[in-house]
Amino acid sequence: MLMTKERPKAIRTMRGWAIHVLQESGAIHECEEHGWAKDRADPHARERALHLARQEPPDGLSPDEAVAELQDVLESIGDTCPECLP
Ligand SMILES: [Zn+2]
Repeated sequence: MLMTKERPKAIRTMRGWAIHVLQESGAIHECEEHGWAKDRADPHARERALHLARQEPPDGLSPDEAVAELQDVLESIGDTCPECLP
């Protein structure tokens, strides 16, 4: 019971962490109108985000896992806001 409750929470937290790191480094930004995360397609910002993840992985993740999590989240983010499209 506790296990099934905690797992999705942990995943949300990791995703939240990854989005935070990506925003901090400027790799993604939020649509001002709708709040969707958008990929800025900036390779330097991505480098910074990956570097940050490697230097300061969240609790429970190794540096490699933290980088993999970041890349996962990056892949799931488009470069446009879905609600801004016509
Ligand atoms: Zn939008």
